[in-house]
Amino acid sequence: MNESLSPTPAQDQSRHQFLRWLERAQQGSAALATADSPTVPAAAKAVASSGSLESGEPAAPAGPATVEAIPLGDPQQVRELSPSILGCYHVTAGHSELSGCTLEPRPLLRITWDAEGGQVQHRWYGGDGQPLAAELIERLGLKELEPCEERLRANDAPMVRRWIAAALQTDSGAVGAAPDWLAATVVWCRWASGAVAFRFGNGAEGRSNFAGWAIDFVQGYQRPEKYRCSASGEESFEVLALDDGTVTVPQAVGRCEQSGTSTLLSNLKTCEVSGRQVLADRLAQCPISGLWALPDQLECCVLCGRAVAPGRIESQVCSDCRGGRDIDPDDSLLAGLLAADGSFARYGHWRGWRDEAVAVLIGRRWLGGQLAILYDRQQARVRQVARSGRFSQRWTVDPS
Ligand SMILES: [Zn+2]
Repeated sequence: MNESLSPTPAQDQSRHQFLRWLERAQQGSAALATADSPTVPAAAKAVASSGSLESGEPAAPAGPATVEAIPLGDPQQVRELSPSILGCYHVTAGHSELSGCTLEPRPLLRITWDAEGGQVQHRWYGGDGQPLAAELIERLGLKELEPCEERLRANDAPMVRRWIAAALQTDSGAVGAAPDWLAATVVWCRWASGAVAFRFGNGAEGRSNFAGWAIDFVQGYQRPEKYRCSASGEESFEVLALDDGTVTVPQAVGRCEQSGTSTLLSNLKTCEVSGRQVLADRLAQCPISGLWALPDQLECCVLCGRAVAPGRIESQVCSDCRGGRDIDPDDSLLAGLLAADGSFARYGHWRGWRDEAVAVLIGRRWLGGQLAILYDRQQARVRQVARSGRFSQRWTVDPS
């Protein structure tokens, strides 16, 4: 709006045609003033009587007039606007509706000068007295105005005078050849603001906002804000609700390949064994490799009972239980176990591994055969005993 163009956008119109329009506008004001309040036209009169503002000369009887108008076709009712706004959204299994919408009249200024050849010339200004950009003049339909009821109040007159003076000063160079202005028209354009509510069958709700010139929405120059999914930060005019009540947009949603559930992509994780995208809480972590995988992609070690990734297990025994470090005969856990169960003492060359939860101790006999003890360190008890035969690598778990 503050963009200053050179030359200032202008429109020529036949003087005769304009004066007829002006007369109609003034009659409208007078009629309304008589009906409503005799003091209302004070704003117009005050402006008119000031004559040439910069010189402060006394008013000429037929001095400039101030009237009010609206652009032809500027939306005056919310219902004129709502299809354009709501039509921007596509709501899956729900609907959108306006949730608060105001159409505030905002003033712009048109000043009309006498021009040569029986013409007048119009120029337009924003609230700061600066010329409006040609593009905005076109968009807001400022070249076709119709008189409207007065919105200026008597105490608006000083403000309007200052506004006109600022505009005249801005354009003093551009209209130097024709310094006398005929009329000022305060043009009320509707500024729309409000919110759109999205409602879904499962009770989920979301909102988007909009603000801009009402005519811009109707003409498609502006669209309301996209819906912003607060969980993902993604935005779209396509809005949907998940079963858990999250209102979101399609690009933030994925499908769990195991359960078929639609959910936020942030809730999905890739099974590092199968490559499937699934709900993160369906994955388990291989304690050896650290890979996250679906439980059915992991294999259970017969000795330690842990589910591990396929690359970390062979013939039912995980790489920890296949390896392990030698255990010193003085190790307190081993010594305690051997003391508690005489059958364990027939095995030697103990090796194994342990973490905070369990310890695996594997002994072997000279004549062949192995024994594997799974010890629960939290409960301080033997959880399982397994044996392999002299000629077989296969492990058999003792009945508990
Ligand atoms: Zn194991």
